[in-house]
Amino acid sequence: MTQTAFTEPEERVALREAVKKLAGKYGREYVDKQAREGGKMTEMWLEMGQAGFLGVNIPEEFGGGGGGMSDLAAVLEESAAAGAPLLMMVVSPAICGSIISRCGTEEQKQRWLPSIADGTHLMAFGITEADAGSNSHQITTTATRDGDHWVLKGQKTFISGVDEAQSVLIVSRTEDAKTGKLKPALFVVPTDAPGFTKQPIPMSWNAPEKQFTLFLDDVRVPVDALVGDEDGGLWQLFAGLNPERIMGGAMSCGLARYALDKAVAYAKERSVWKDQPIGAHQGIAHPLAKVKIELEQARLLWQKAAALYDAGDDFTAGEYANMAKYAGGEVACNATDVAVHTHGGNGLTQEYGLGNMLVAARLGRIAPVSREMILNFVAMHSLGLPKSY
Ligand SMILES: Cc1cc2nc3c(=O)[nH]c(=O)nc-3n(C[C@H](O)[C@H](O)[C@H](O)COP(=O)(O)OP(=O)(O)OC[C@H]3O[C@@H](n4cnc5c(N)ncnc54)[C@H](O)[C@@H]3O)c2cc1C
Repeated sequence: MTQTAFTEPEERVALREAVKKLAGKYGREYVDKQAREGGKMTEMWLEMGQAGFLGVNIPEEFGGGGGGMSDLAAVLEESAAAGAPLLMMVVSPAICGSIISRCGTEEQKQRWLPSIADGTHLMAFGITEADAGSNSHQITTTATRDGDHWVLKGQKTFISGVDEAQSVLIVSRTEDAKTGKLKPALFVVPTDAPGFTKQPIPMSWNAPEKQFTLFLDDVRVPVDALVGDEDGGLWQLFAGLNPERIMGGAMSCGLARYALDKAVAYAKERSVWKDQPIGAHQGIAHPLAKVKIELEQARLLWQKAAALYDAGDDFTAGEYANMAKYAGGEVACNATDVAVHTHGGNGLTQEYGLGNMLVAARLGRIAPVSREMILNFVAMHSLGLPKSY
């Protein structure tokens, strides 16, 4: 039996290096400045698109790199580890790009994928509704067929990046499937469509990417705005939601790497007792070592989930994507907390920028699917325990 070392392929290692270099030019200072001044990540986003990093998962014939979720998640992990996480990568190329690649018509792929790949078209994603929350089976946004059009009516909340997006992939249900288990119908809705309005949600998280409540008041879209089949079922949605979870896990791992790097550097250099740095004390060293172990566990999980997704094993990929998102969220929270603590008072100064990261990391426990909903999933599907909700 041949024994191979567990490493990523050479191409992905090179991809990581290239992303690290580009994202490193921007880093945390750029993100913080944009957030402070109401700016966006556009300059970095477009440069990443030009370099081919945003579209690595999109098929080559539609302007992408022809790789998979393993590549795209590596890109996001590296940009987050460089201090410049691109939240909208979770949405535009990962969710929307994957759904259109797998469920769209030839014409839809030609229309949207090349510009999603190079970053010039940013597509947001809207499933969450205020009255449904974690229970997406309860969404009420409805699409009604009217001749050559569909008419959408409903509301969405916490939708990221709508102010920067040209369109939003809206998850709705058709008039014929208005109640019961969700049969999703997915529509690409331009953000300038009549009847489409957005309202910013003031958030405690200081980031360039903003969240919005959306109102769809009889928004008319042509029939070819429907991606996939209105009767296609849940798999069409999960063609995007599993990538979303993998990307969430990878982004959290990148945040954790950034926080851990900062903390270790500080622990080596800060000295308040004799000549020893604070990192010589086990009270500082052990929590950092623990985070390092949790981080490597979480990275293995998203890599496994992505490999399964890329191999076309959607069912098992779903299980591991959930676990990867859970593990990423946990280690990002632990890493940022330990990093703040290692920095003492400096951990909460704006200069070191770690306080705001506590909030960013916390997001990984809530979105896109909460820690509890993942535990429910694993208890039921991986362990065969009774459904608890
Ligand atoms: C910064 C940010 C960006 C976001 N971006 C987007 C986006 O771009 N597009 C989009 O569609 N959505 C987006 N979301 C929404 C996100 O996916 C939801 O916030 C998330 O799914 C949780 O839903 P909720 O907030 O309604 O919480 P709720 O469903 O109200 O849950 C509240 C709490 O109850 C717990 N809970 C609920 N049900 C159960 C149960 N059965 N068992 C145990 N515990 C339970 C949850 O775990 C949670 O802790 C974003 C959210 C945030 C904060």
